Amino acid sequence: MKIIAVGMNYATHNKEMHHSLELSEPTIFMKSDSSLLKDGKPFFIPDFSSEIHYETEIVIKINRLGKNIAERFAYRYYDEVTVGIDFTARDLQNRLRKDGLPWELSKAFDHSAVTGTFVPLEEIGKMTNLPFCLTINGNKVQEGNTSQMIFSVDRIIAYVSRFFTLKIGDLIYTGTPAGVGPVKIGDHLQGFIGERKLLDFYVR
Ligand code: MG
Repeated sequence: MKIIAVGMNYATHNKEMHHSLELSEPTIFMKSDSSLLKDGKPFFIPDFSSEIHYETEIVIKINRLGKNIAERFAYRYYDEVTVGIDFTARDLQNRLRKDGLPWELSKAFDHSAVTGTFVPLEEIGKMTNLPFCLTINGNKVQEGNTSQMIFSVDRIIAYVSRFFTLKIGDLIYTGTPAGVGPVKIGDHLQGFIGERKLLDFYVR
């Protein structure tokens, strides 16, 4: 399986990161199957970064094989969602960016893609209007709604499937709203879609 992620997909987050890009196409990067962390397992802060940031994102799971998918049919390619964390070694990413280098080391390291429990989309709402949030140690630190995405999930699927064949089980991280920040050892992260808690793990 592969993990496809969208960067800079919420205007509020782009503002906090001081990106003033007018994007005509989604910004895409990938994580690896070894990036995955699930089932509430703890996240261990890696030794190559002193600034690991959480980015809370809606994650969808691809449920059929597809290539060159038309946007109007894209909804047929997913039926489960969850909330996840796109962990980012921000200090490393800033260095790579400054030198015009790819982001992978800062984005695709082991356990950088945390997923919550997947639930059927029909149980939880409409893809274009899912409220989600993250709490750390009980305090809400980040919230957003998929209605605020610059590029919708269906548009992202249409776009990425021009380049990559989508396969059953592939994941798409759909971007983070404003409110990203650092984690430290001992933090307790809980992620919600609406009132439903789907993500619950500790940083060690
Ligand atoms: Mg992200």
